[in-house]
Amino acid sequence: MAPTDTDKPLIDLLRARGQRVTPQRLVINRLVRERARHVTAEEVHAALARDLPGTSAPTVYATLDLLADLGLVRRIDAGTGATLYDARTEPHSHSACRRCGAVEDLDATTDLSPVEDAAQRAGFQPQRVEVVVSGLCRRCARARA
Ligand SMILES: [Zn+2]
Ligand SMILES: [Zn+2]
Repeated sequence: MAPTDTDKPLIDLLRARGQRVTPQRLVINRLVRERARHVTAEEVHAALARDLPGTSAPTVYATLDLLADLGLVRRIDAGTGATLYDARTEPHSHSACRRCGAVEDLDATTDLSPVEDAAQRAGFQPQRVEVVVSGLCRRCARARA
């Protein structure tokens, strides 16, 4: 498999950590990036059936978690039931529709460090702090009206 520009940051990070560059890792990284939206592990698994059939669900989960640990994707828990993976790693917020589960980017950042500080004072060890606006997306709001 010839490396692409998308592969390079992943290959560099894996090599720096002494981890193996596998076809699964490269293809899953490409898939998440190509979709350029929030995907579940199940969606990635389904998409792999074409490119790398036979890849197990646990491999997909482990690889997505590895990509998150490497800082190449962001995990989002928008309260829709499934963890989502976001190829956009710079700070941004999300809206989550509680009817259809659609999760969209909101280009707004806010200083959440006071929230993080409060959590720390309460003896909590925060790993991430994020804003999720819960409600109805345009389509669902219209369908209900
Ligand atoms: Zn909706
Ligand atoms: Zn996002």
